[in-house]
Amino acid sequence: MADFFGKERMRRMLSHDIGIDLGTANTLVYVRGKGILINEPSVVAVNQKTGQVVAVGAAAKEMLGRTPAHIEAVKPLVDGVISDFEVTEEMISYLLNRAQENNKKAFGPRVVVGVPSGITNVEIRAVRDATRNAGAGEVFIIEEPMAAAIGMRLPIHEPVGSMVVDIGGGTSDIAVLSMGGMVRTKNLRIAGDRFNDDIISYIRNQFKILIGEKTAERVKHAIGSVIPGDEPLEASIKGRDLITGLPREVIVTDTDIREALSGSIEALVNSIREVLESTPPEILADIMQRGIYLAGGGALISGLGELIASEVNIPVHVTADPLTAVARGTGVILENLDLYRDILIENEDALPPKK
Ligand code: ADP
Ligand code: MG
Repeated sequence: MADFFGKERMRRMLSHDIGIDLGTANTLVYVRGKGILINEPSVVAVNQKTGQVVAVGAAAKEMLGRTPAHIEAVKPLVDGVISDFEVTEEMISYLLNRAQENNKKAFGPRVVVGVPSGITNVEIRAVRDATRNAGAGEVFIIEEPMAAAIGMRLPIHEPVGSMVVDIGGGTSDIAVLSMGGMVRTKNLRIAGDRFNDDIISYIRNQFKILIGEKTAERVKHAIGSVIPGDEPLEASIKGRDLITGLPREVIVTDTDIREALSGSIEALVNSIREVLESTPPEILADIMQRGIYLAGGGALISGLGELIASEVNIPVHVTADPLTAVARGTGVILENLDLYRDILIENEDALPPKK
């Protein structure tokens, strides 16, 4: 403790502590002492002629599908894996600069980066190198389900089992945690983007019109549910009529969206069931008693917690503000680094190879 108030305090005066949730859909940046300062879509627009980054985040997302030939808007994390290392590095560099804007300290920041749980050791090293190259003094890597659990204040160090289901954009993570480690994990590509695709296919088949991804996502947010609510909901959507080729508007209902999502939701529930089935009995008993915790933007689909609870017969808690659980977790880690050092990935070579 004496050391904490001496060296540690000095270090904090000389450099920032920053947490990054490198999500497939959204990237959040937490700055110690300030909270979440950046919350942007994980999209980067790059000028292919000069290699320069033109825009990052919301501005770049607006450009998706609308760029001239020489500008490309890329999502650096596709399906939870890093599809483009250089762009990822550019994005991290931009975020670190913005997070420290007008307040640069003497040394590079100490950075905790949350990465999707499915990523390989090679990718973990790439994230570490990218973060270092972007100016970080020290880099700690944490798998996102663990960070989400910490953000939700679950007792991850105790000999008590917890289950976290983080439903993001590209992937969902199902993780069972106990005593600072992940006892079981499953990473699947059924998450928010898939739900959008389901809606696009359903509308194409049922109404014979083609809608874009943004429209599908908007409808999902507005009226998406997996259990009927008290009142029916409707949304009007515009698309291209598949037969005439002309624009047409139709009204879709919450029942349509439930129908559209049903296959993916069933697959998600089955995956949760599989993980539960392979969980050691003592830990399973803990989870049955304490419940399953949902995080990630997908947790916001109306009725999802209730549906999962009835399917697996275990209570389900949807954390308040599920979109920020991982970023808040990186913040908790930064506040008490010594307490969490054991669960951070310091050397990816020490990890068992991932499937
Ligand atoms: P990631 O961690 O992969 O970046 P997020 O946790 O940020 O993902 O979640 C993004 C996903 O959550 C997107 O697919 C988005 O459509 C979805 N989402 C956000 N808000 C809602 C909502 N209210 N209802 C349904 N889905 C939502
Ligand atoms: Mg996430």
